Amino acid sequence: MRGDRDFGFTDEQMMLRESVRDFVRREVPDEYARRCDRERIAPLDAFDKMADLGWLGVAIPEQYGGSGLGFVELGIIQEELSYGLLELAVLFYRATVHGAQSLLTYGSEAQRQKYLPLIAAGKFKSSMSLTEPNAGSDAAGVQTRAVRDGDGFVINGAKVFNSQVDLADRTVLVTRTDPKAPAHEGISLFFVDPRSPGVTIERLETLCFRSVGTNRVTYENVRVSEDDLLGTLNGGWKHLMTNLNKERFSLAAQVTGAAQAALDCALQYARDRVQFGKPIGKFQAIQHKLADMQIAVHTSRMLTYDLARRLDAGIACRKEASMAKVFTSEAYFRVADEGMQILGGYSMTPDFPMERHYRDSRLMRIGGGSSEVMRTSIAKDLGL
Ligand SMILES: Cc1cc2nc3c(=O)[nH]c(=O)nc-3n(C[C@H](O)[C@H](O)[C@H](O)COP(=O)(O)OP(=O)(O)OC[C@H]3O[C@@H](n4cnc5c(N)ncnc54)[C@H](O)[C@@H]3O)c2cc1C
Repeated sequence: MRGDRDFGFTDEQMMLRESVRDFVRREVPDEYARRCDRERIAPLDAFDKMADLGWLGVAIPEQYGGSGLGFVELGIIQEELSYGLLELAVLFYRATVHGAQSLLTYGSEAQRQKYLPLIAAGKFKSSMSLTEPNAGSDAAGVQTRAVRDGDGFVINGAKVFNSQVDLADRTVLVTRTDPKAPAHEGISLFFVDPRSPGVTIERLETLCFRSVGTNRVTYENVRVSEDDLLGTLNGGWKHLMTNLNKERFSLAAQVTGAAQAALDCALQYARDRVQFGKPIGKFQAIQHKLADMQIAVHTSRMLTYDLARRLDAGIACRKEASMAKVFTSEAYFRVADEGMQILGGYSMTPDFPMERHYRDSRLMRIGGGSSEVMRTSIAKDLGL
């Protein structure tokens, strides 16, 4: 029943997809995902089992202990993990993209050698600490200060909505190092250990993403060394931008997998639920909803793997990345919303995963660049 079209995958990519599907069937069944969500438990045991299979190193070059594959493979893993539990794919993404791709794009050789083998082995988690109370979509407005002090820096400030920072070995912390420079030119990135003295982490109550969750974080006189600087001093904004397409691609792959799971749940329910003497899937009104959901998921997958191939080929793809992010996240929300309608009153109960999809899909139109900001970026690329 699932999205079985191969999208031109090679035999090896098809085998990888089968392995991840098999893993998700065994290790991430509905009951597991439901328990992680309801009891607010991060899926760390599933993460560790996945790490043993070597998938965290899929797009890390062999010289650093990875498999040296590319974005199609990274997409396949994220899509399939997300089919079981979106937040498991997000855990994977934070290590492989926020961690590994950041290091590969703008880390030093010493930092790559130190961290990439650990990420590839699944023994290292990372996160991204960008958003602040006064700097959301206007991310270049960050005010968290890093001030040079002897052979290192001292950091003071506050971040909000920092997911998984409580589980991370290091977080990519976005700071202001030159307050006199224009906003985009005075930003630097540090790879900070969130267990450092002076860091306080408070879990936030949220509608969505209840398993891994998100946090408010304060930094009070936190010392970091020169070796923790990621990329060049005051070059942080430029570095962040180089990774943006990879992040948007990852979010697209994740929501495609989650949308497929929501569609499959609704399809099964439409076959099973009998009203007026027949399965509700026999009513044209329900059939058309399912047809629209199928179109949304199929188109999401096309945009995702088109983007993966552009990334693998090194083709410029800012517009395609923004289009994929906005389309797939809105598609996931539409699929979950119609899924709620198809499941009727039962959609409201945690007996079915639809209410989790409905909650999580709502975030995906906001987080990682809101739909409004994505459309503005697309318009800019159209020359407007
Ligand atoms: C559960 C969760 C997890 C998150 N995880 C992380 C994380 O791990 N790391 C991290 O750094 N951040 C994280 N975020 C933050 C997320 O990326 C931000 O919420 C998002 O970037 C939007 O910022 P904001 O919430 O401050 O909204 P605002 O920027 O205040 O936007 C509010 C509204 O105004 C609109 N708007 C803003 N500017 C414009 C404009 N120029 N034109 C048109 N409309 C505009 C927005 O689209 C939105 O609709 C997370 C958020 C949540 C809720």
